[in-house]
Amino acid sequence: MNLLKINYSILVGFLLVFCAHSAVAAGDFVTIVADGYEFFLAPEPPAAGQALVVAFRPLAEAGLHNQRNQQFSGMTFKKRKFPLEAVKGGWRGVVAVPLGTKAGTYNLALNSRSGSRLLIPVTVREHDYGEQRLTVKNEMATPMRPENLKKIKQDRNDLKIAYNSSEPRLLFSRELQPPLHSKLTSTFGTRRFLNGKPKSPHGGVDYKAKIGLPVPAAAAGRVVLAEPLYYSGRIVIIDHGLSIFTLYMHLSEIDCQVGDLIKAGQIIGKSGRSGRVTGPHLHFGVKIAGVFVDPLRFVADSRYLLKIPWEDENGQGKL
Ligand SMILES: [Zn+2]
Repeated sequence: MNLLKINYSILVGFLLVFCAHSAVAAGDFVTIVADGYEFFLAPEPPAAGQALVVAFRPLAEAGLHNQRNQQFSGMTFKKRKFPLEAVKGGWRGVVAVPLGTKAGTYNLALNSRSGSRLLIPVTVREHDYGEQRLTVKNEMATPMRPENLKKIKQDRNDLKIAYNSSEPRLLFSRELQPPLHSKLTSTFGTRRFLNGKPKSPHGGVDYKAKIGLPVPAAAAGRVVLAEPLYYSGRIVIIDHGLSIFTLYMHLSEIDCQVGDLIKAGQIIGKSGRSGRVTGPHLHFGVKIAGVFVDPLRFVADSRYLLKIPWEDENGQGKL
């Protein structure tokens, strides 16, 4: 029976029932066997504002010719698309659970090139990151001047181009490292009120940092934006492949250019107080396919991406 071609709702029902009995912890990954494939998820269950690493491979014993040749192009989760990379024996990628996602079970779709898809139920934990009230200049909280509005529009366009230029493969081979180790003055995900008005939640963490501290890249990658923006000030955005980006904001100085290949730990600029700030600090963020996730949590979880779950330490396949 070829489940790939089965009606969508039947497939969902099948997987929900099937997976309820087959999810077992295998090392750090939760393993799900369904439809001739073995899926590995970590960390499980993810919370709103976190990333979920996904790897999967066809089961050797399934032996179904069409499954062995099936090629996957990407994933869909909560109506957003995430890339997949073909690795030895299977595929890997990462999806991001948006802030504000309610507790529940959501389908992760693995889309094949032929148009069919596999569905995996993913249970998400709700998480409240609290709120924060800040006071900034009015023209920074709610810009009114035409030249500022024009700049903000241009910035949006530059950001869009930057975020559309991710490599389809992972560009780092070592776990991410936090850029600084100083005290956090603001954590990720807080609902923000600027001068009393509700704004977007905080998309990263703020490190206490005086002006001029060297800022290292969290991991290897390629610079896709390095310029001053109205809100972010001098910003560097690095693409790490698979639509994973790190952001470094409010810099006093930028020490790299768009297109530069950056090594892990390479200095990409210096901390500062440019853009919308209440004082000097470093804002560090991680954005995955348009979704901000808790950057420090992702730093810790990046190890899951580097491990192909079905390979041992020597890169050999294991059954
Ligand atoms: Zn910040």
